[in-house]
Amino acid sequence: MDHSSTTPVDAAVTEAMLPYFSDRFGNPSSLYTIGREARRAMEDARAKVADLIGAKKEEIIFTGSGTESDNLAIKGLAYRNRKKGDHIITSSIEHHAVLYTCKYLETEGFKVTYLPVSKEGLVDPADVEAAITSKTTLISIMHANPEIGTIQPVEEIGKIAKEKNIPFHTDAIATAGKLPLNVDAMGVSLLSLSAHKMYGPKGVGALYVRKGTGLTPLLHGGGHERDIRSGTENVPGIAGFGKAAQLAKERIPESDKLVKLRDSLIKGVLEIKDSYLNGHPEKRLPDNVNVRFSYVEGESMILNLDMKGVAASTGSACSSKSLEPSHVLLATGLKHEEAHGSLRFTIGRGNTQDDVDYVISVLPEIVNKLRMISPLAR
Ligand SMILES: *Cc1c(COP(=O)(O)O)cnc(C)c1O
Repeated sequence: MDHSSTTPVDAAVTEAMLPYFSDRFGNPSSLYTIGREARRAMEDARAKVADLIGAKKEEIIFTGSGTESDNLAIKGLAYRNRKKGDHIITSSIEHHAVLYTCKYLETEGFKVTYLPVSKEGLVDPADVEAAITSKTTLISIMHANPEIGTIQPVEEIGKIAKEKNIPFHTDAIATAGKLPLNVDAMGVSLLSLSAHKMYGPKGVGALYVRKGTGLTPLLHGGGHERDIRSGTENVPGIAGFGKAAQLAKERIPESDKLVKLRDSLIKGVLEIKDSYLNGHPEKRLPDNVNVRFSYVEGESMILNLDMKGVAASTGSACSSKSLEPSHVLLATGLKHEEAHGSLRFTIGRGNTQDDVDYVISVLPEIVNKLRMISPLAR
């Protein structure tokens, strides 16, 4: 129940990858047969990834991760347009791949506005518009937040960005395969994807770069990926990403099943005394359940759930090793102890109602047990 951390690789995806480790191991830049086969697989995958988001094939750049896609979008655009301006607008609840990239750019003299969010985690498009100055060269607001599940009004933000002629980047890593994506409807110039969040392999990402959007490369070398991302491409990973993108598009209607399981889990979990839903009640990812319990710590709940065979998380997998409460929950106005008492379940294609019922059956006992030994509960 932690599919926002990562997903299992779909069997059809593994199958699509295998030939490119063995018989068809060629370098896609080579001119002979196995090289051309590798290139064909890569270009086929590029078309499938483009199709998932309503883009053109030549607007897709393959990268080594979602993190790299976010870095390339933000640094690449900021560096390229430095003479025009040095101001970036983002939100306070972005993934660290966006947030820490912006913080890094501040050390290089860029100015960044981190917009606040409502208590449901929503960015107000009026705040985006008000933050724009003559020096703004980029707006980066995520499509949906994988921690609390809140879906942002990206179309409205895209409209504002277009009116003001400012490139708009969105991190759509949490929504790909769950919500329909269309780069024109969203009004984005840049959009990040990551294969391992959508039943593809780890270590492959993509960045959509709208035609006419210039980026300064982060990696220099042989000029791969239209000179934007040098380095021999991860052909097996990319072939797998293509298959995952195709399946993701076909399976978007199955999101209804996720919504049913999600709502059933929310209802069951909220029957526990002193529990509250984090994030937005309606504008919410189909797979996301984030709940907080007074007087208990998320980490203790995770360990106890693990003993019962349930994998859940306190927030993002990337930051769970630190003891700092989630920056996302704090930005929604929660106190430290409230953020610490939060638990996230993210439902995947393989989960069933039985899984949900099992969680609902074991969780109350865990919460009660932890409350008995909690100094906060007295
Ligand atoms: C997982 C994730 C990332 C990072 O992607 P990796 O491929 O793991 O580097 C970035 N943004 C969001 C919203 C994510 O969920």
